[in-house]
Amino acid sequence: MSADAPVILVPYGDDPLRHLATLLLERHKDRLPDLSQQVVLLPHTSAVPRFRRILREQAALKDFSALLPPFTGTLTAWATRYADGDKHRLSTTAHEILLLGLLHDYPQWRREHGDWPLADSLLELFDDLALHECRLPDDPDDLMRKVIASRGADMDDFSPFSDEAQLVHTLWSAWRERLRADNLQDQALQFTDSLARSLDQLAIDTKIYLAGFVDFSNVELNWIKTLMGRRRLTLLLHGTSGNDMEYSAKRLIDETGVKSSSAESHDAYADFLDRVFATDDGNLRQRAQKQAAFSSTSPAHGHLVLHQAADAESEARAIDLQVRRWFTQGHRDIGIVTNDRKLARRVRALLERARIGLVDAGGWTLSTTSAATALARWLECVEQNFAHEPLLDLLKSPFLQLDVGYPDFDRLVSLFEQTVIRSNNITSGLEHYRHGLERAKTDWRDELADASGALAQLLDRLESAASPLIPLTTARLRALPEFLEALHKSLENLGLSAGLENDAAGRELLNVLDEMRAAARHGTLRLAWAGFHQWLRRGMEQRRFHPPMQGRGVELMGFAESRLYRFDALIVAGAVREHLPGQIGVPPYFNDNIRTELGLPSLARRHATLFQDFRRLLEAAPRVLVSLRREHEGERLVPSPWVERIRAFHELAYGASLSDPELEWLVQQADAVIVMRDAPLPAPVAPPAARLPASMLPAAFTATDYQRLINCPYQFFAARGLGLAPEEEVREEIEKVDYGIHVHRILQAFHSGVPGLPGPWREKLDDATRPEAEAMLRQISQKVFARDLRRRFLARGWLYRWEKCIPAYLDWELKRAAHWQAEATEVKKERVYQEGGTQITLIGRIDRLDHGKDGYGIIDYKTGSVPTRDQVLQGESIQLPFYALLLEQENIAQATFLALEDEDVKEKTTLDGESLALLRAAVRERLMLLKRRLDAGAPLPAWGDMETCRICEMEGLCRREMWAEPKSSAS
Ligand code: SF4
Repeated sequence: MSADAPVILVPYGDDPLRHLATLLLERHKDRLPDLSQQVVLLPHTSAVPRFRRILREQAALKDFSALLPPFTGTLTAWATRYADGDKHRLSTTAHEILLLGLLHDYPQWRREHGDWPLADSLLELFDDLALHECRLPDDPDDLMRKVIASRGADMDDFSPFSDEAQLVHTLWSAWRERLRADNLQDQALQFTDSLARSLDQLAIDTKIYLAGFVDFSNVELNWIKTLMGRRRLTLLLHGTSGNDMEYSAKRLIDETGVKSSSAESHDAYADFLDRVFATDDGNLRQRAQKQAAFSSTSPAHGHLVLHQAADAESEARAIDLQVRRWFTQGHRDIGIVTNDRKLARRVRALLERARIGLVDAGGWTLSTTSAATALARWLECVEQNFAHEPLLDLLKSPFLQLDVGYPDFDRLVSLFEQTVIRSNNITSGLEHYRHGLERAKTDWRDELADASGALAQLLDRLESAASPLIPLTTARLRALPEFLEALHKSLENLGLSAGLENDAAGRELLNVLDEMRAAARHGTLRLAWAGFHQWLRRGMEQRRFHPPMQGRGVELMGFAESRLYRFDALIVAGAVREHLPGQIGVPPYFNDNIRTELGLPSLARRHATLFQDFRRLLEAAPRVLVSLRREHEGERLVPSPWVERIRAFHELAYGASLSDPELEWLVQQADAVIVMRDAPLPAPVAPPAARLPASMLPAAFTATDYQRLINCPYQFFAARGLGLAPEEEVREEIEKVDYGIHVHRILQAFHSGVPGLPGPWREKLDDATRPEAEAMLRQISQKVFARDLRRRFLARGWLYRWEKCIPAYLDWELKRAAHWQAEATEVKKERVYQEGGTQITLIGRIDRLDHGKDGYGIIDYKTGSVPTRDQVLQGESIQLPFYALLLEQENIAQATFLALEDEDVKEKTTLDGESLALLRAAVRERLMLLKRRLDAGAPLPAWGDMETCRICEMEGLCRREMWAEPKSSAS
């Protein structure tokens, strides 16, 4: 290799960065350790740390423990140092907006291709035109003629192509004119201009080194040639100097027009690969015969394995297994290169399960961060009339900073969810939440005593924060700055901006929004809300976080990122045609002929660049596995043509495959899957019996608590002690539980009155007044169901069901009125019992309390199943005696369930005064006993019977399935 040659060809099997480090230290040995005047340009930033490390290592071998390093970075980043400060640079976002504005006059194209795909492909074309120094003809007709000629059509038949040529020509001209008039530069123009300026401004003793590039635009190539002419630039290409034009290195050498120098390399495996892919040395069979004559044993054995898996999961498992095999053999720098992101994610999960840490250069998008989720939820609130799900997500977001004068915001949100949303089953709408809050102030008086003001304020703040955006969601086309200013104001009012400032991803999100605001000023684009929201989402999806690669350890990457890398071992994964070479994007206009005629890179050239990456990787490590799969969801997949060529060539030359039978066997073995093999199978467990510290006992016991203690004490422990009882679902459609709530409310309004509803009924109920009473009940019913009737499809059916029940209810009421008078409804009670050192507080709500000549009567409405008399008398169902315990009155003459069924209303399981007194005393005694034991920290065993367990949500906690012998109900 000549040390002075301007183009150096480094064989695929060698490391260009090592050659480059050697070259730098050699050429500038007189100035060591100062290399700060020199410039090293690489195709991507991930190669920078690896180059610095190699340079340091090689300098140390020459006794330089420290260096003043050369500038090392990408060509684009370096060129911006020479950018014209008088020109304003357009960001990518401003770029898009400007073009979308120009596209406004082409509705048909926008409809056909979609706004964003069309803008993306046009911007790519404009960048290509600028970077390849292509000028479109001044006259659009000339361009049209070129298009028509390239399609092999007649001039008489040009109408299908005239739109295409016209669109591109008009937009290109308008685009250039707009940039010129506003003194703007897009990125391609700035890059072009900066490279030209660098030629005049480059420091006299600076030498430039480029390594690892696989293609250059015309602008870059001209810049390279100029600097080579001045002996200021050296190009290190990776590849072969063979005549085959499939190798882009050969083309680049030809294009620079200088003589290249090749590093020496004699490697049988490299020769084998060159023969596989040579197209100027006979057909595949002839080349295979030459290979067999040249070497009687396969040079690929020990270097290259082709593994064909059945499906994606088997392929991922094979990769996981192979990485672990290499690990056990002591190889540490392992690359996994693939264009298949889905496969990459699965491989990452498997390797993480095997505790093999890896860096995934694919990174993640801003849209997947919790900061972007908070913004997305807020926009959903605005669009969906504050639907409860996005609203609760937003309120629970750590980024929200709303000061509503309440010390514990988390508790406030929890109260809002419990007392307003879930207990009133409100699905959306600030006015509904306000209405729900008014009701909750009565129903949850104690809980909301100090919070209702803050909740009202919270709703006001949400409304005020949404107010700049709400009118825009329904408006026709608006200018982008209008949307962005409104969004900015809204986020400020909401306190979301302040919260996002405290988080790295949040700050990035705010930067994106700022960039969008700045960019929006450059265009006249007008969008409807849906278009704006789509643009915003796109902005979040386009911004990616890439973890820095180290060039060490296990790393997952794409083909382009693998340039300038060397590995101990390498896997090229997903080698099916769909991903290798994969689809080369075909723009919606201009076929390959016209693109070539205009001087743009042809598809063949882009294809050659991809091939160059694949070919390089086959020698990027001493051991390479290429994996692919046969099918995906029942559909046969076509192998990559490049892999197929290697497979066929090897078969022809050596009559053997390049598979690894051991790997194929291992993948089939269940033992090869990572599991905790040493861990014994979980042993059956005894039913748990937890102790609840006295401090965690509920302050007051409801009938449900007591019922839980009897049914399964462990369920009580989990639900009430640990607070794990699930929140009630907010139901989109009316269900039986809502029906029951509505019926309770209707009867409350009828007998006692409810603010805002008709009633109460104050007349004596008899045959004469009955029609009037029925009318009132129907009026109340309509009003109670009104909100659901507007929003829920099934509400009318439930109302109809209740209305059919009204005559039966009045019949029953007429009979009952002969002996009983309704005294109160929805009676909220709290009572304390004390015995010795034991105290218990009971709370509950009695549906209806009547008064008759012998005393009081308790009624519990039932719209569902009713406990049997036996269950009540045997103490299994404790509701009625529990209510009796809540009352101070001793003279309770009756307690009954009132079953409100279809067209039928009946008293069921009625207890007379005597039975009730006995049960009340027994329940009280048992309650005191239980409380005494709870105070003493007695265990709370799990003993639910089939029926209790069937509807219990704590099964995962008590691990009932794991019990040695599930117990049946205990006494
Ligand atoms: S699943 Fe059964 S045993 Fe377990 S906590 Fe629930 S009721 Fe008790």
